[in-house]
Amino acid sequence: MLFNELVIVFDNLSKTSKRLELTEILSNFFKKLKCEEIGFITLLCMGKIFPASEGKELGMASNLMIDAIALASGSEKNEVKKQWNIYGDIGETAKKCMSKKKQVSLIIKELSIKELKEVLYKLPEISGKGSSDLKLKLVSKLLSMTDSLGAMYLTRIMIGSMRTGVGQGVIRDALAKAFNAKPEDVERAYNLCADYSIVASKVCSNPELIINPKIILFSPINMMLFLKAQSVKEAFERVGRPARIEVKYDGMRAQIHKKDNEIQIFTRNLDNVSNQFPDAIQLVKECVTANTIIFECEIVGFSPKTNKPLAFQFLSKRIKRKYEIETAIKEIPIKMFCFDLLLLDDKNYLDEKFIDRHEALKKSINENNNIMLAKGIITKEDSEAEKLFNEGIKEQEGVMFKSLIAPYSPGARVGHGVKLKSHMKELDLVITEAYYGKGRRKDWFGSFTLSCYDTENDKYLTIGKLGTGFSDEQLKEMNELVKKSIISKDDEKVILSPNIVVEVEYEEIQKSPTYSSGYALRFPRLVRIRYDKKPDEASNLFMIDELK
Ligand code: AMP
Repeated sequence: MLFNELVIVFDNLSKTSKRLELTEILSNFFKKLKCEEIGFITLLCMGKIFPASEGKELGMASNLMIDAIALASGSEKNEVKKQWNIYGDIGETAKKCMSKKKQVSLIIKELSIKELKEVLYKLPEISGKGSSDLKLKLVSKLLSMTDSLGAMYLTRIMIGSMRTGVGQGVIRDALAKAFNAKPEDVERAYNLCADYSIVASKVCSNPELIINPKIILFSPINMMLFLKAQSVKEAFERVGRPARIEVKYDGMRAQIHKKDNEIQIFTRNLDNVSNQFPDAIQLVKECVTANTIIFECEIVGFSPKTNKPLAFQFLSKRIKRKYEIETAIKEIPIKMFCFDLLLLDDKNYLDEKFIDRHEALKKSINENNNIMLAKGIITKEDSEAEKLFNEGIKEQEGVMFKSLIAPYSPGARVGHGVKLKSHMKELDLVITEAYYGKGRRKDWFGSFTLSCYDTENDKYLTIGKLGTGFSDEQLKEMNELVKKSIISKDDEKVILSPNIVVEVEYEEIQKSPTYSSGYALRFPRLVRIRYDKKPDEASNLFMIDELK
């Protein structure tokens, strides 16, 4: 298939925001595709290049893109920058510059999807001396193999700012419709591998394949999520009595896949962080007795000096670190607190009761000081639960209440477990705009628009502005993250693709016409940047309606 055929579909998608129409366009398109190409094309339609589990990023900075547009269109770099300032959107800039291209005859050969995939998958592998030049050459060649509209979409794909409005729900329904499958079956298959490129290839080649989907080792399972409770009583009401109550550790959720000596670690975002945590891998090698297993744990950073748990911010440095891993291990050693089992020796445990999953997990681990089961009790008494909660909030975040009889439901925020935290006035929100500072700080982003997720429409709705609570280091980090997500800009602010999730504390939620969610947060302040959360996992409108 040629890239330009896909561009026509992108363009049709961009003309509507109605879910049914988006689904119709895509399902008609999917029917025409070959099963070997549908996987990658599905990712592109969602504005992605790699499935999250591969842990790859294109890392295409706006500056490199500007250079590539200049090279491909034969324009001066300053001219491209000027256009960017006028249009405020780098995709539009590419379109404009390419349409004015001086050497009109330069489309040597039309870009195919296969070639596009080859180049996009090669880019992150390029490193070392001369790598920027090589990347620049490859990207500008791609741009010159398509027309100006193609260049616009190509640019948006590469800087991660495709806005086709196609979320997971639309993909699920379009695949189901195209291949006569049930949307629930498509969704279940997705939750077991968390990768729509795999699901699309399977359902295309044989829709029966997704009816009883199997767990695939080393392809992460979408994690089960927990609801919030406000009190011990409410928590018991949700999960039933007796329940298992466990300390809620403040770390990184990890899903560990092991087959013999091969071990991989996935975050809640399904990123593969195995390279960053060789110490965790070693612990699993030494202490987990099962040959084949998938289990979940919380990885917590500890101070090497005091042996006390460190706040998540410290551990998050390890998640991002790509080099000098050995030093990082010494600076922030970890412990693993295990709490759920998904697969053991080729037996799928998802439909087993939690109490049985927990028992089997316990038998599979030789616990020691560094890897152990999450501390917990089974009780039906409020008083015992309160006691553990008080212990839980002293050193960690609170407690989890878990139903003893519930299955593991991948990808679902069901009430099989609930969390009870100390201060409940927190939300996870997405940064969708950043404002330039004033005076001396005019080159620096100092305040940020917060948005919640509108699950129904796969949109982000504004709910407040965040300008306080930052340490210098956090502000620097935010600035770096913002720069990577810019879609368009004006004199006052930049619009961002929704990538950055932050945990925010606030005083109150009020109704307000100022923001598109219809609510405004009073006095929001930053608690931390949530690298471990996907934007569509941010607090949603429904949760905010409930809190109000
Ligand atoms: P939150 O991040 O506030 O949505 O809370 C849910 C998270 O708590 C999970 O994704 C885990 O990372 C974390 N967690 C910490 N301790 C436990 C535990 N004992 N059981 C389950 N999840 C836990």
